Amino acid sequence: MIIDAHCHYFTKNAKLDFVQGSSIEDHIKDCDLAGIDKFVLFTIGGLFRDFIESNDEIAAVANKFPSRIIPFGTINPWYEEESLEEINRCIKVLKLKGFKLHPWMTGFPINSDLMDTMMREISRFDVPVIIHSGTPPWSEPLQIAELAYRFPKVKFIMAHMGITDLWKEAIDAARMCSNIWLETSGVPSLPIKTAVEEIGSDRIVFGSDSPYGGKGGHIFQLNKVRFLGLKEEDEGRILGKNLSKILNLD
Ligand SMILES: [Zn+2]
Repeated sequence: MIIDAHCHYFTKNAKLDFVQGSSIEDHIKDCDLAGIDKFVLFTIGGLFRDFIESNDEIAAVANKFPSRIIPFGTINPWYEEESLEEINRCIKVLKLKGFKLHPWMTGFPINSDLMDTMMREISRFDVPVIIHSGTPPWSEPLQIAELAYRFPKVKFIMAHMGITDLWKEAIDAARMCSNIWLETSGVPSLPIKTAVEEIGSDRIVFGSDSPYGGKGGHIFQLNKVRFLGLKEEDEGRILGKNLSKILNLD
């Protein structure tokens, strides 16, 4: 089973005209073409606008396609009280399966103690947290490592594994913290291959960051992994098995 760890849901509310969005139906068609069975879906607009409303949107669209969508919520540490409540509502009422955090878009340093109350609450549940990485000053891999070190029970997925400039730090972060998994979107092939060699295929998960990348983006991101010439079992772990375990899908 192929699972994509990183997709965004574009709604009119997102107001991101500079990105070519796609409807959820188009998104699913693209997944079908690429052979992707399930995908993690989270907001884009809720990362910098109303996160509570965006969590409702994600839950509603996931209910329409329950066999395909693994819905994740988001919170905003600048709204601590609301976020604490929202963590519980997302898991218990909306049945969301994890959280996405975007320090750069939401505007907070991921390693600050601003995160502590929220991470303590999240760590009460067995749900993963995916964090955008690679854009200083707030989303650097070693800052994420600092957070992962403080909250060893939480499973952290490092989206983009540091992108083009900070992938070596991303591998270091994963080496230091066994609760960090590296996600493959936005990064070239070489860092993925190096990560397999240095930390092993069981610590890497496939993600596409679609609909960024436009039509064919899923296939391009998948091929980055497929053309590495990995052993079948390594490729299988990266493309779905690892995430399936993280999410307790089996
Ligand atoms: Zn993204």
